Amino acid sequence: MFCRECGKQISNNASICPGCGVSAGNGSNFCPACASELEPGSEFCRKCGTKLLKATRSKLAAGLLGIFLGSWGIHRFYLGYINI
Ligand SMILES: [Zn+2]
Ligand SMILES: [Zn+2]
Repeated sequence: MFCRECGKQISNNASICPGCGVSAGNGSNFCPACASELEPGSEFCRKCGTKLLKATRSKLAAGLLGIFLGSWGIHRFYLGYINI
């Protein structure tokens, strides 16, 4: 695959691009499948059709999930406290 930040070819199991130091899958400048340059915010590569995941969206989802699970845990704690 290719680094999405700088377009350099990196091995499929690399977690960080050796060229720019950005973690693999981050960045929005190049297609990870064919290394063609992307327009900012594109969801598909226009050249090869690869669907591009947005790192910011998954980070937001993880954050919301963390908040949800955190408040759920507190909620359970309160329920347990009432039962005692
Ligand atoms: Zn890179
Ligand atoms: Zn592509």
